[in-house]
Amino acid sequence: MLKKNRLFTPGPTPLLPQAQTAMASYGAHHRTADFRALFTRVLADVKEFIGTKNDVLVLSSSGTGFMEASVSNLTSPGDRVLVLSAGKFGERWTALAKAFGCTVETVTAPYGETISLDEVRRKLTPEIRCVYVQATESSTGARHDVERIAKLVQTSSDTLPDTLFVVDAITGLGTTRLDVDGWGIDVIIGGSQKALMVPPGLAYGAISERAWQRMETAKSPRYYFDLRKERKSAAKAETAYTPATALFAGLAAAFDYVRQMGDGNLAAGRDALIANAELCAAMTRAGVQALGLKLFAPSSPAAALTAVAAPAGADSTVICKRFREQFGAVVANGQAEMKGQLFRIAHIGYYDYLDTVGVLAALEQVIAETTGKAVEFGCAVRAAQEVYAKVR
Ligand SMILES: *Cc1c(COP(=O)(O)O)cnc(C)c1O
Repeated sequence: MLKKNRLFTPGPTPLLPQAQTAMASYGAHHRTADFRALFTRVLADVKEFIGTKNDVLVLSSSGTGFMEASVSNLTSPGDRVLVLSAGKFGERWTALAKAFGCTVETVTAPYGETISLDEVRRKLTPEIRCVYVQATESSTGARHDVERIAKLVQTSSDTLPDTLFVVDAITGLGTTRLDVDGWGIDVIIGGSQKALMVPPGLAYGAISERAWQRMETAKSPRYYFDLRKERKSAAKAETAYTPATALFAGLAAAFDYVRQMGDGNLAAGRDALIANAELCAAMTRAGVQALGLKLFAPSSPAAALTAVAAPAGADSTVICKRFREQFGAVVANGQAEMKGQLFRIAHIGYYDYLDTVGVLAALEQVIAETTGKAVEFGCAVRAAQEVYAKVR
């Protein structure tokens, strides 16, 4: 049978055709009225998509660039920071903070689980300058309770008047409800190659007034990712350096698409995109469980992706290979020491009913052939259809 290449990875995600067309035809120089108009429009849309009154920035880098910026711009060497970590991306916060000389306290949870709020409360001492967390830990499929963690940071803010709360929502934005200003998130970060259906290369985020003030005294070295410099440029509808211009054109097309999903309202479109991810995730969870498979993060599964434990005796590397070779579908293996133990199916951005049902149908074939066990064909698909029918 012929194979169409399809991405089911939690970034990069499938590209929006309208964004591809917009990128292919975009050739304006970045110091022109044309680009300034595009840039201004994209910044306004980013603000509405995030749902914030704070100033927003778009950096030409992958998501990790903005993560690094939120360490280098907000800390000084020797600062004590708290990282809430339950996977490879949580560990990236720790590595980043250490690279800039911070003293790193951590609250950790085993892979597949979420952070203990009691432990967060215990570790929130007055010396903590920043708290770093993921909204959704893409390496394990777990969702962290950002609202309750934010409340803890806020509640303790009588004693911690200057603790900033930074959220890597790179797979959270567009898949997960996040009240950025209401909960008091000081820095929230997203990436173009996730829910916004554009190739990798842009990171975006919103920054609170408190965080801008911190930058005035923070002493860690920074140059390309100097956020104050970008803010100053953005006020003049410019970027500090040469931006990834074509990606901006793609992003504008993606926001138009999301706005259409909301009948002309971008925030409503974002909510529809979140509801879409939630439904794809609920269908997928029902499907894999009907097949007798176990969720890797059962207690707090994210809508961004579903991580599935490899069945006993099977290797997820083989499962992912089968998906690719037999169906042209790229499903993500476990990262680093989780390799072989789980596979991940994303629901971030441009996925619909047919994608979701299709990947489950393929999973039935893959499991039958890799485990050699009898699979009742249609059982995963049926469970997903039942979830869908109920929501309808
Ligand atoms: C994709 C992702 C990142 C960013 O990775 P880049 O490769 O730098 O874009 C960071 N955190 C999470 C949770 C992610 O899913």
